[in-house]
Amino acid sequence: MSTEEHYDAIVIGAGVVGPCLAKVLAGQGRKVLIVEREWSKPNRIVGELMQPSGLLALKRLGMAQAVNNINAIQTVGYYISFFNKNLKINYPEKSILMKNKININPVPGALTSNKLSSDKLITDETLNMDDWEKSPFVRGVALHHGDFLMNLRSICLNEPNVTKLNGNVTKIIEKNGRVTGIEVADKGIFNASLVFSCDGIYSKFRKELSKDYIPSIGSYFIGLDLVDANLPAKYHGHVILGNHAPVLIYQISPHHSRILCAYRSNTLPKRNDVLNYLSNEVLPNLPNEIKPSFQKSYEESFDGSNIYKAMPNQFLTARLNDKPGFICLGDSLNMRHPLTGGGMTVGLNDCALMCEILSTLSNDELKDHSLVFNCMKKFHNERKGLDVVINTLSIALYTLFAADSSALTILQRGCFYYFLRGGECVNGPISLLSGLCPSSLTLFNHFFSVAFYSCYLNFIDRGFWKFPLAIWENIQALTTACFVLLPLLSKEIFS
Ligand SMILES: Cc1cc2nc3c(=O)[nH]c(=O)nc-3n(C[C@H](O)[C@H](O)[C@H](O)COP(=O)(O)OP(=O)(O)OC[C@H]3O[C@@H](n4cnc5c(N)ncnc54)[C@H](O)[C@@H]3O)c2cc1C
Repeated sequence: MSTEEHYDAIVIGAGVVGPCLAKVLAGQGRKVLIVEREWSKPNRIVGELMQPSGLLALKRLGMAQAVNNINAIQTVGYYISFFNKNLKINYPEKSILMKNKININPVPGALTSNKLSSDKLITDETLNMDDWEKSPFVRGVALHHGDFLMNLRSICLNEPNVTKLNGNVTKIIEKNGRVTGIEVADKGIFNASLVFSCDGIYSKFRKELSKDYIPSIGSYFIGLDLVDANLPAKYHGHVILGNHAPVLIYQISPHHSRILCAYRSNTLPKRNDVLNYLSNEVLPNLPNEIKPSFQKSYEESFDGSNIYKAMPNQFLTARLNDKPGFICLGDSLNMRHPLTGGGMTVGLNDCALMCEILSTLSNDELKDHSLVFNCMKKFHNERKGLDVVINTLSIALYTLFAADSSALTILQRGCFYYFLRGGECVNGPISLLSGLCPSSLTLFNHFFSVAFYSCYLNFIDRGFWKFPLAIWENIQALTTACFVLLPLLSKEIFS
């Protein structure tokens, strides 16, 4: 491949966001190079539950059929179990799209003559579109990440203006304070008007934006594959709460379900500690019907035949893309706790917004930093509506669900009983979580309603004689609620 060639855009990484970005930029008439170091199917425990808003963004990008023909499973809501109580929560009604003025229009350049490009899902072996159309509720989807990625990549590579390169990007090339290209190991230098870094969770290049642009690790997820698990609620994401950190389970194909067990640690947990945790704390608290498949998977992890995987749960607030010629997108720009399955939703919505904003520039104008910088300021401000909510909610919910103090335990219990009240107490939070209510004010309202409701329950629990104790505990709970939400929310809003 000639290193003399000039591209309008180079995209580093063909994970979730990279192929969507490359495909739509190409559809806008840009000459695009996409570079990936590992084109074969990955086997990761990330990106397997897509929220309704993520699916909507995928449609807007013309990549809807990436979820087809991979045995994906529809999701209609959540099942939450808290000690011996449980509840089911449905995703919002479709009318929420109108009510909250959610943009459902295809992004310019998304729908091309590329026959794989479409904004509509089709019926396949596991997804029935007639059924989807008839349902008054929005839906999400759970899938095998590797199969989904391979579909995204083939839709992208079917676009005539996209060139594929197999290689490890080792360096960003800069001339006179502007990024002009990349260096790829054993392949040479490639030049472009804009270089997009979509290199994911372990991004090597996000530090180009700032040396202190470093994510923090809050916990780990331990992932196991459950075979033929009998889940209490079909088509629901399961959240299991108790004295342990939260456990997530969702069916990702007819015979496989993913279980992700949060583990409180900011360093990679040792194998023995993980195995002890799984057998002593997770297993006893699982719903009985899940135990046999978990036990089997655990034993296979123990003897090494089906080893568990551990991934760090990182948090990184987005910053303005202000480096000339260089743009971060996806996990490279912004990360949150995976508990709420919001990563792909943020990445894909950001991708749609980025492509929409850049579509106003001609290919020549991509070289003009002042024009691109204006677009980046617009992008940075407009993305906040959705991203602030999803990011803040993910960390706040994780903190409550992984309660490790008496104040957090009061809030955790209050949160579950708040959902049990039904009506707006459950519709509001699920709209936030599914990405269809991009309003930080709504998040603020529900979070503090949970906090006050928790205090009310605590008063009742403590009774008349322990009223002074309840006052003291409730002051602690309310202070903790403020410390959980306010710094996060303000960091996200004012970054
Ligand atoms: C444990 C866990 C569970 C998660 N579960 C969910 C979930 O259920 N739902 C959800 O929406 N989100 C989830 N997420 C988040 C989601 O996986 C990410 O938000 C999403 O994958 C980000 O997409 P991306 O394209 O930015 O990065 P990635 O999908 O990670 O892609 C990055 C790509 O860049 C390539 N690359 C990296 N460096 C180079 C280089 N130097 N040269 C060439 N190529 C390179 C990599 O090989 C990779 O293919 C989870 C995250 C974690 C940690």
